Amino acid sequence: MNNFEFKNPTKIIFGKDSIKKLENEIPENAKVLLLYGGGSIKKNGIYDQVQAALENFSVIEFGGIPANPEYSVLLEALEVIKTENITYLLAVGGGSVIDGTKFLAAAALYEGHSPWDILVDKKRTEVGLPFGTVLTLPATGSEMNSGAVITRKETKEKLGMGGPGLFPQFSILDPQVITSIPERQIANGVTDAFMHVLEQYMTYPDGALLQDRFAESILQTLIEVAPRILEDPTDYKAASNFMWSCTMALNGLIQKGVPTDWAIHAIGHELTALFGIDHARTLAIIAPSHYKYNFESKKEKLAQYAERVWNITEGNTDDKAYAAIEKTVDFLHGLGINTKLSEYTNDYEGTAETISKRFTDRGMLGLGEHHDLSPDKVAKIVKMAY
Ligand code: NAP
Ligand code: FE
Repeated sequence: MNNFEFKNPTKIIFGKDSIKKLENEIPENAKVLLLYGGGSIKKNGIYDQVQAALENFSVIEFGGIPANPEYSVLLEALEVIKTENITYLLAVGGGSVIDGTKFLAAAALYEGHSPWDILVDKKRTEVGLPFGTVLTLPATGSEMNSGAVITRKETKEKLGMGGPGLFPQFSILDPQVITSIPERQIANGVTDAFMHVLEQYMTYPDGALLQDRFAESILQTLIEVAPRILEDPTDYKAASNFMWSCTMALNGLIQKGVPTDWAIHAIGHELTALFGIDHARTLAIIAPSHYKYNFESKKEKLAQYAERVWNITEGNTDDKAYAAIEKTVDFLHGLGINTKLSEYTNDYEGTAETISKRFTDRGMLGLGEHHDLSPDKVAKIVKMAY
């Protein structure tokens, strides 16, 4: 197992009717900016629950953060934070609203020239404006980690940021929020969480036996509950286990002591930036080609995944490893997720070259756990995914 340090300061408040506990978590004299997305919270009752819990606080609202949180919209929120002397941020939404809030937490205290530099120059945020979250969509794990991904339409960029100052102080997870999520977003959530686990688990050499088993148990739980939630989102047992699995998939625990990959995400972000494809779906497009292209270095782990997660016992290591990739694709198709770029856009020719050039320009010359996926190799993986 590799050496590691682990600290996760986010307090999780989990369970039925937990949104009302908000009032115990925000400092009494805080001036709060309530941040949300396109308005789903106003239709499903979450907004009313948040308002009721914030009755005794001074609160200003900023709505309209779009999916794939957009830089220009966030700059408007930043202006509100500054002019209104906001001291506390509250994100009510999915990964997009939470990531946008993390950007604002960093940008509010940033003294450099332009807040976009935080992303371009990969500036780690040691201290940010304090914030908490009410999660409305299980998927990203952003509610219990310190990373964020921000989109800039103007330049078709989607870049990551983070740092120890960007953990939420608390996150409220009420699985009942799942009842109003459209099927497409449930499928996205399952897929994103599944891929988060794979990015940390499907690496070699391995040596973290316990983390492997944590990872496999999250995958198995997602496989078990996904069809049940799609069938009936009021199934609380399935919903609560889905929600906690998504958080556990990316709160740092399973990545400790292991080499992590993250090439699928790096490439996937480009597909969202170029074509606006949902984050989770970009991962479903890239993952099968990534595992086929890197088959030799990953086949032992793929075979372990085949045996332990999919109960595939027939054949040699290569057979099992291939079967596991096929099983993963079948699982994604079962969720209604397409796995080829050409199923999302007719304009895919040249994408491999564009992404490869962008990675070269940005100095991203060696992706993956072995840092050996050059921009040329990335182009081959993207082409295989057409
Ligand atoms: P999202 O973009 O936050 O939300 C997708 C859609 O679901 C929105 O239209 C939203 O509507 C709707 N929605 C959310 N909760 C709902 C509810 N309870 N009922 C009905 N509709 C609801 O989706 P996401 O998958 O959570 O986040 C994706 C973003 O997170 C991407 O930008 C991705 O790159 C990023 N990400 C971050 C991390 C990380 O660790 N930080 C990891 C992976 C991905 P409203 O707009 O009306 O709320
Ligand atoms: Fe993700």
